[in-house]
Amino acid sequence: MENKEPIIEFQQVDLSFGSTKVLNKIDLALDAGKFYTLLGPSGSGKSTILKLISGQLQADSGEILFEGQRINHLPAEKRRVNTVFQNYALFPNMNVFDNVAFGPKLKGLGKDEIRHKVETMLSLVKLADFSDREINELSGGQQQRVAIARALANDPEVLLLDEPLSALDYKLRKDMQQELRTIQKRLGITFVFVTHDQEEALAMSDWIFVMNDGVIQQNGTPEDIYDEPINHFVADFIGESN
Ligand code: ADP
Ligand code: MG
Repeated sequence: MENKEPIIEFQQVDLSFGSTKVLNKIDLALDAGKFYTLLGPSGSGKSTILKLISGQLQADSGEILFEGQRINHLPAEKRRVNTVFQNYALFPNMNVFDNVAFGPKLKGLGKDEIRHKVETMLSLVKLADFSDREINELSGGQQQRVAIARALANDPEVLLLDEPLSALDYKLRKDMQQELRTIQKRLGITFVFVTHDQEEALAMSDWIFVMNDGVIQQNGTPEDIYDEPINHFVADFIGESN
């Protein structure tokens, strides 16, 4: 029987930094194998949600579940989750191959298995011939592809993407939007993508959470959000052009 339990669930999650509340009673339920987007202006709490999923931060209260198990205090390295950041965060002193091989090596995979994994991931991001390149020889777009391959080489069940396309120019961003969608579908894993760009969210997602001020204002399909914004904030935010 198919397992219908959400892969990730937040129940009434609160988080403050000092006296500032940055997440306020967040509820969400993510099904495995879908492309989710957290959409909202800067400071709305998107990255903080990703950090709670990855284990970089811990909630003040509420429950965080992974496949039905409480993971509030599970260390980050024990979670089947990896993150791709806007600034790539690659190892500058390693070539492309060694960057992507980093996770598989840590896991203690054999040499052939590592090579196979790295080659598979590099072709997935269309960098099959770039194995031996140094990071500083690559364009920003190519570095972001390496970062995606490196994250995927860890076999995450959930890939978190924190504004991964924001530093890229318009044309490249459009291409990468399609490619990320294709990669997600091909691997069938769960993506949680963060952006402040409503057009990007509408184009890419199965399901969107619109955030403002630490609160989820609305969630639904791109059609739901576009056709029937639930309040003025969502209507104005979706209606803005970047
Ligand atoms: P977003 O990713 O949507 O731009 P963040 O989740 O990064 O927003 O931040 C949400 C709020 O929390 C912002 O007001 C931000 O200034 C604040 N914040 C984030 N991280 C910290 C921190 N380590 N210490 C204090 N405040 C923080
Ligand atoms: Mg952020």
